[in-house]
Amino acid sequence: MKTIKSSYEYVIIGSGFGGSFAAYALAKAGKQVIVIERGVWAKRDDTCWDEYALHLQQKPLYRGHTPYAVDQHGTIEYDWPDDTVGGMSTFYGAAAFRMRNEDFEGPPAPDSDKRSAELAWPFRYNTLAPYYDKAEKLQCVAGIQGQDITEPPRTKDYPQQPPLNLSRPSQKVWDAATSLGMHPFYIPMAINFSGVCNNHTCILCNTCDHYLCKIQAKNDLSVSVLPRAMQYGAQVLDNHRAIKINFIKSKVQSVDVINQQTHEVMTIKCKYLIIASGPVATPHLLLASGITGYPNTNQIGHNLMRHINGVVSGVVPYIANPDNTLAKRIAISDFYFGDSSGKMLPKGNWGIIQDIATPGKGVIKANAPFGLKNIAATFSQFLINQLVIAEDIPQFTNRIYCSDPKDIFGMPQVMIYHRYHSRDIQARTALYKQAKRILRKAGALFFYTMPIVTFSHALGTCRMGNNKNLSAINPECRLWDIENCYITDASALPTGGSVNPSLTIAANALRVADIILQSRG
Ligand SMILES: Cc1cc2nc3c(=O)[nH]c(=O)nc-3n(C[C@H](O)[C@H](O)[C@H](O)COP(=O)(O)OP(=O)(O)OC[C@H]3O[C@@H](n4cnc5c(N)ncnc54)[C@H](O)[C@@H]3O)c2cc1C
Ligand code: SF4
Repeated sequence: MKTIKSSYEYVIIGSGFGGSFAAYALAKAGKQVIVIERGVWAKRDDTCWDEYALHLQQKPLYRGHTPYAVDQHGTIEYDWPDDTVGGMSTFYGAAAFRMRNEDFEGPPAPDSDKRSAELAWPFRYNTLAPYYDKAEKLQCVAGIQGQDITEPPRTKDYPQQPPLNLSRPSQKVWDAATSLGMHPFYIPMAINFSGVCNNHTCILCNTCDHYLCKIQAKNDLSVSVLPRAMQYGAQVLDNHRAIKINFIKSKVQSVDVINQQTHEVMTIKCKYLIIASGPVATPHLLLASGITGYPNTNQIGHNLMRHINGVVSGVVPYIANPDNTLAKRIAISDFYFGDSSGKMLPKGNWGIIQDIATPGKGVIKANAPFGLKNIAATFSQFLINQLVIAEDIPQFTNRIYCSDPKDIFGMPQVMIYHRYHSRDIQARTALYKQAKRILRKAGALFFYTMPIVTFSHALGTCRMGNNKNLSAINPECRLWDIENCYITDASALPTGGSVNPSLTIAANALRVADIILQSRG
């Protein structure tokens, strides 16, 4: 580890998609960059594929030091993030989608098939397209061009192709969807399937989503983009947390950073600050640092979106995945823009349906109701699952805010308030119905639906926009009234479409880095 200096040209807080991609682009351009990350580097050993070590033991291996207090049902529950270098990418499912053309035109309007244009992105898909190309290349995304009927225009093919052989459940779903007249396609995935990206080739195990990859075949940021940024000279300071941003007049002067082991605090000066701490921690840090003393900050922390996701499990009369191979392979976008006949509600877009693996027996047991734990674990081998992802409407009242008491690092407690709009729920219900149709065709006899209650796809809490009254940051992703402070993580996205968000966050971070390099030199 190089010595930490007291001053850097670029300080980046967070090493997820927003932070790592910005760090890569800036370091590559010869800029002096440090990334501050509260998580630690993940170990690549047997614990990577161990549900007990990662999820079930009393203190899971990468559990962060401080929880989020969440009110999504009327009571406060505590949610503990996993903190690693690479952010959520280390645990993610590696689906690497582009948002569709229309997704940039604003979120669905509640009661019509229109979009709320005043909440549109400040630019359209075409602006992001070249950055999607670059992000796909850096993440070595495997996909098949032209299969997905809602895919936006692209000028380059994917860096690699996925293997065509599907797991048994994916093949069953593929056949069922095709026979219903739908158009399944291979999910574009940031996984080294073919060996072209590096020496670590995927073995198609079925512990990918929610797990770490022991053999580094999943292109999470700690094995893909960050090492490249470090080759260009970027420093990564792990196990350190930014606790306060220090502003002087209209500029960020420095950041106070605490060593989470020793609790020693240092102040690091910067010329430019990029905040990429994720959609919960970014507004939290800004609010805790007193940002509301500045004009045009009333949107910070608000408009929290998270998609409205749920899993439909079908119970089939055969062992669903006898080879236990990667079950997250295909998706169906026929209902992305809703019901084309206009007969089924809601009007306007619905979302996407995707494969998702059956959780491990231990996780199923832990989450099943008392008395049904063993039965649920036994039944798990007869399940085929489909994940539905629908777009949710950004609402001002859904927000991140600060409260008492202070945490062990002296920061105020981070609070999350969220309620879905009735249109969001309608869209998910419509997708549940279609997923059941497919699973029934694949042989399912019974169904179980489970809403996803995590904030894994959280977005929009510092939305970019053209209108100061409706956005937290300008189209360049700079805080409106602070000259040298940018936000490049999921917070910046004004809408989330109905696809997994990581590639869009990555592409936008590359766009912002380009803007900074061009305008600031
Ligand atoms: C289990 C799971 C599966 C997923 N699967 C997919 C998928 O298949 N495809 C997809 O596109 N998306 C997926 N997602 C969502 C995706 O991972 C996120 O949308 C994305 O990682 C968000 O990127 P980000 O840069 O905004 O934030 P993050 O990835 O959250 O990164 C923020 C980083 O900042 C650090 N940090 C926070 N506060 C501080 C601080 N004060 N000081 C220092 N560091 C700080 C955090 O530790 C973290 O490393 C999944 C998420 C989860 C949890
Ligand atoms: S499926 Fe492939 S990339 Fe995913 S964890 Fe298994 S080996 Fe790694």
